[in-house]
Amino acid sequence: MARKRKAALISLSFALSAGLVVLAGPAESRLPQQSPIDVTHGAVRYDPTLPLLHVSYHHSDVRLRYVQKDADTPGGCTARHHEETEEAEVEPGTAHVTLSGVRYDLVQFHFHTPSEHRFEGQATPLEMHLVHRNAAQELLVVGIPLKAGAPSAVDKVLAQLAPECGSTVHVGDVDLNSLLPHERTSARYNGSLTTYPFSENVTWFLMKDKTVSQATISRFQHVFTGGNARAPQPLNGRSVVLDRPHI
Ligand SMILES: [Zn+2]
Repeated sequence: MARKRKAALISLSFALSAGLVVLAGPAESRLPQQSPIDVTHGAVRYDPTLPLLHVSYHHSDVRLRYVQKDADTPGGCTARHHEETEEAEVEPGTAHVTLSGVRYDLVQFHFHTPSEHRFEGQATPLEMHLVHRNAAQELLVVGIPLKAGAPSAVDKVLAQLAPECGSTVHVGDVDLNSLLPHERTSARYNGSLTTYPFSENVTWFLMKDKTVSQATISRFQHVFTGGNARAPQPLNGRSVVLDRPHI
């Protein structure tokens, strides 16, 4: 066990030094804080004084659209760019979260395969990102790992995938609250967008995993055969903070 932990520390410090060499430049005023990350035990701490995230999600009519990133390349309508995804649009005002009195409205949610965030190196088949924005245009993203199991509300959203260069899919009414796990325990850290332009100052809330049917996982992976997930980025000394003793 001790040997394993030592090996993990060595690999983390190696990643840190590699990140400094590649990413530090003369204009950098601080270490990069990029996403996603691999959440390791050594990086996690519990802070009982954290303000809780208040979730206010309701029903919304939902449409699913394909986000295309290679529109100006030949064959772009069939080739899979690794930053493309299926994105669900919600009606404005139907869902928001509040943190320390600041309201962040749900703008859209989308999916990656495999999961972008990892826990002790372990990925899940899918990850859902619920993107929220406040009045100051700051982003708060809730990340939920999805694993194979009993069907859930996510199956309805991904029952029919939107084609690239085609029409959006009308999903219909979705109880947005049922997309989230019952327990709202979270692991928080400061990160970035996981697609271009990789902007930082994104507040990440990673929640407990949910299940989705294997058929839905297979349907999504059949479209994104090469995956649409960014690799984990160096922590660069960041902590991941839990608002409960265990996630
Ligand atoms: Zn994402």
